[in-house]
Amino acid sequence: MKVLVINCGSSSLKYQLIDSETEEVLAVGLCERIGIDGRLNHTPVGGEKVVINKDMPDHEVAIRMVLDALVNREYGVIRDLKEIDAVGHRLVHGGEKFTSSVVIDDEVIAGVEECNPLAPLHNPANLIGVRACQAIMPGVPNVGVFDTAFHQTMDPKAFMYGLPYEYYEKYKVRRYGFHGTSHSFVSKRAVEMLKLDPENSKVIVCHLGNGASISAVKNGKVMDTSMGMTPMEGLVMGTRCGDVDPTVVEYLAHSLDKSLEEVMVILNKESGVYGISGGLSSDFRDLEAAADEGNRKAELAIDVFSYRTAKYIGSYIAAMNGVDAIAFTAGIGENTSIVRRKVLEHFGYMGITLDPEANKVRGEEKIISTPESKVTVAVIPTNEELAIARETVALTQNK
Ligand code: ADP
Repeated sequence: MKVLVINCGSSSLKYQLIDSETEEVLAVGLCERIGIDGRLNHTPVGGEKVVINKDMPDHEVAIRMVLDALVNREYGVIRDLKEIDAVGHRLVHGGEKFTSSVVIDDEVIAGVEECNPLAPLHNPANLIGVRACQAIMPGVPNVGVFDTAFHQTMDPKAFMYGLPYEYYEKYKVRRYGFHGTSHSFVSKRAVEMLKLDPENSKVIVCHLGNGASISAVKNGKVMDTSMGMTPMEGLVMGTRCGDVDPTVVEYLAHSLDKSLEEVMVILNKESGVYGISGGLSSDFRDLEAAADEGNRKAELAIDVFSYRTAKYIGSYIAAMNGVDAIAFTAGIGENTSIVRRKVLEHFGYMGITLDPEANKVRGEEKIISTPESKVTVAVIPTNEELAIARETVALTQNK
């Protein structure tokens, strides 16, 4: 089967065409500036990247351009659109309604719309992508894979906030968690790779990218995760603050004479390691280079990031009453050995020992703890697109 995987944002659309039998990526690309002017970056895997600047007034036009690129004689990868058997969509917020991936029909669309208030920027944009595919490729099944679904196994004691109960009942205020597709993919791979017993396993997944979250996965089910009702909570991230005292919001609004919305923009886009480093960068490559040259704020940003990560790991070891494996994934988790080292230094008391040579690894699967280590630590690259393609196949094949 050939599966088109789509991640549709408000002004951008990322895609991959994946052959599900070989799990090979045939083409990858990105539509940018939808509704502004429009640019398509398309790369047939193994070939040259093509950039097409052309008006993209809406997502339907963007998807038409993607499909044209996929069948183009010069840089296309398929002969006919009929070769696309299904489309897998990344959907951000499924609330409590969606606990797994679904084949999208009118009822599902209505259900996702009900969750729109919880993700007002993301969900409507995701649905625009779904509707555009339905319009252009009638008869081709669309599958929705939710960022929140994998975390729906959490117990109320893990997902309830210390707020009046009625706000949970009336407004669904609770922890949902995000990056579920990645936490699911990496935790399953950890069990497989390290030959753990799927029914008796305790895995902590550290998804450390520009957005970052941790999950505690016991016997294949999420017990707890660090992101909350929205992706703001938990770890210090590229530009998001993660956990802060809520009073900071009120205090900053007063001190800066800004609205709540304006303060939220600061917490979302100007904080995290970017903010701590004095606006130097949200990218760990820049922070590491600056820290090496003696930049104190860059060093502090890396320290705060690593320390917060270690604290979450510690709390999840308590939540699961133990841990068999810790997996690092996503841009920082896969590439930044200094963060992994600084995080793991906190677990010497538990008998976790890092192999410094193995810890030099970048972007590939590898055990980075020593054979004597009481807990196995591994780098496991995530692949959310492949996970979406697999879910899409599972829900549509022979149906
Ligand atoms: P997202 O999907 O949330 O945008 P990614 O998982 O792609 O994030 O991670 C992006 C981040 O990973 C970058 O901002 C950077 O901090 C870090 N990163 C990526 N590659 C490297 C590298 N080679 N060395 C150090 N850090 C890296």
